[in-house]
Amino acid sequence: MKQSKLFTKTIKELPKDEASYNALTLIRAGFIDKAAAGVYSFLPLGWRVLNKIRHIIIEEMEAISGQEISMPALAPRENWQTTGRWDDLDILFKISGSDNKEYALNPTHEEMITPLAKKFIFSYRELPFAVFQIQTKFRNEKRAKAGLLRGREFLMKDLYSFHSSQEDLDSYYELATRAYYNIFKRLGLGDKTYLTYASGGSFSKYSHEFQTLTESGEDLIYICDKCKVAVNKEIISEQSVCPQCGNKELRETKAVEVGNIFKLGTRFSAPFSLNFQAADGSKQNVIMGCYGIGLSRILGTVVEVCHDEKGIIWPESIAPFRVHLISLNKNDEAEKIYQSLLDSGVEVLFDDRDLSAGEKFADADLIGCPYRLVVSEKSLAQGGVELKRRSNKESEIIDLDKITLYFSK
Ligand code: ATP
Ligand code: MG
Repeated sequence: MKQSKLFTKTIKELPKDEASYNALTLIRAGFIDKAAAGVYSFLPLGWRVLNKIRHIIIEEMEAISGQEISMPALAPRENWQTTGRWDDLDILFKISGSDNKEYALNPTHEEMITPLAKKFIFSYRELPFAVFQIQTKFRNEKRAKAGLLRGREFLMKDLYSFHSSQEDLDSYYELATRAYYNIFKRLGLGDKTYLTYASGGSFSKYSHEFQTLTESGEDLIYICDKCKVAVNKEIISEQSVCPQCGNKELRETKAVEVGNIFKLGTRFSAPFSLNFQAADGSKQNVIMGCYGIGLSRILGTVVEVCHDEKGIIWPESIAPFRVHLISLNKNDEAEKIYQSLLDSGVEVLFDDRDLSAGEKFADADLIGCPYRLVVSEKSLAQGGVELKRRSNKESEIIDLDKITLYFSK
């Protein structure tokens, strides 16, 4: 992609009502735009990152037999009334249609997936199965001040699993936990993300959150350094020891919940009468689990966690482009390098704009691609281009004919 053609630019005018580091930085760098409190557009750079996050999540969900679907954002009132959440859920956006009927903008999809599954599940032979979607959710959040960490409209992956026994749910829940660890590792958040015990529903003692350590997180968690798990403060009154090893030396820290997995049991299958016929002929409620991850929240979290004073430092797996190629003088050599990188399948953003070196370097640091390649008279005199990793201070010269080889690793 040529930067001169990029739809957005880095900008200096920032929205006055935005206080969060992640949103301010992403707006400055041209990844997102703010439409209202907690409502953002994703621009080409931001959308590229989001799609990479999406891709990793889809791979890991398919690896645990999740089948991708897409459900509506709009739900008839009856669905939410059936579970009692039309009145109980304070963050529910309610709207009325021209048919004088009321609707909810779904904040989560148990009220949609359960009646949908009822159309296809009749016998134990159809179980277990799992479906997921990556879809926009709406929540009328009171505190939409944390940028992408708490949107009123945001992107979530939600997987739902359906089982004929508690044991089957338990073993799938373990699989899903492993998949979540893989996801956060691949997103570059593995070291900072902790499986966290949180309060459960009436069907299990605990649910589990995945919490990423950051000062801008709203949650307080207690880490057991022996087990590398944590406990959410919301349940610490009854749980002041590590639930795995009994360690009492827990370390308090701030974190943001990036994922949440939950054994729903029959909480939703009972009100919707989602039943199946068991092998012995008896009729039983289907047993369910749900597994959420906030994609847009993850994008904001990565910015909170991976940056320096100059801007973002993207993990390679989700960077908008792998290489930021900068030509300091309009030279043919830069154009040739750009073409050869494209030809060898390297994702490259080519700063071909007519700007000063200082402005180009500042933008490259702000945007945060993992590798910066600078083509200048000076580097060409040394027979190559200057290569610098965004995360390093030092640079090196690599030969012109070794560039594509370097990035084919
Ligand atoms: P929180 O405790 O932060 O309010 P939650 O427990 O209500 O979140 P879930 O209903 O479990 O969240 O949603 C699944 C995932 O969706 C969360 O783990 C989080 O990553 C993401 N998420 C939830 N609310 C928001 C929001 N307002 N903006 C962005 N992402 C969100
Ligand atoms: Mg929560």
